[in-house]
Amino acid sequence: MSYFSIAIDGPAGAGKSTIARALAKRLGYIYVDTGAMYRAMALHFLRKGIAEDDFSAMEEACDSADVSILYQDGEQLVLLNGENVNGLIRTEQLSHMTSVSSANKKVRLKMVELQRKLAEHENVVMDGRDIGSYVLPNANVKVFLTASVAVRAKRRFLEQQAKGIVCDLSEIEENIKERDYRDSHREFAPLTQAPDATLVDNSDLTIEESVEALLDLCKKAENQVDVWKLQ
Ligand code: C5P
Repeated sequence: MSYFSIAIDGPAGAGKSTIARALAKRLGYIYVDTGAMYRAMALHFLRKGIAEDDFSAMEEACDSADVSILYQDGEQLVLLNGENVNGLIRTEQLSHMTSVSSANKKVRLKMVELQRKLAEHENVVMDGRDIGSYVLPNANVKVFLTASVAVRAKRRFLEQQAKGIVCDLSEIEENIKERDYRDSHREFAPLTQAPDATLVDNSDLTIEESVEALLDLCKKAENQVDVWKLQ
């Protein structure tokens, strides 16, 4: 039996996780947040005191990191050597380390193997940077989700503020630009729009409108008649 996969890629802060999670819920699919996997790896490197430019130490430390995924009440939990690290991987410091360490080919291949295995056994909505272009080249639907840098920074700023975290809008914008640049310029599996992906710019869309736009794409996809079990 073959499973259906929806690949959602795009730059930092485009709302991929929120939208992909909602889409997965509507379709009754599993949501796979690949960024969280790279974040767990980066946490492992930080805990080992590895410097951000020490790629050989990262490659060595890869072997002592077991990243796995568990679903609890429909929520993805990321486990690092058996420990649930969901609550530890969203800081700005970790975002930075993740964007640096995820450029490493060995780190990526380890995560890609896990991501492909998940898609072999479940219908998935998977979000990341290279899902449509590298991880799941045969995904049934591919979306490149983006928004202007200013809009993405503002969203991140409001998100952080709502959590009571003091932050600076222009600093957030700079961090986003820096991560986008690094993600799209790395040598191996960079952030890129797959040639057969549909571009969705959601600068002027709400979350709900973005989810509806993606659902429409799913409905229009080939062979969808029998397989999209919309609720
Ligand atoms: O999506 P999120 O912001 O959680 O991703 C964190 C970082 O993980 C990104 O900036 C990127 O460097 C890396 N990443 C990646 N490939 C993916 C998902 C995330 O390189 N498929």
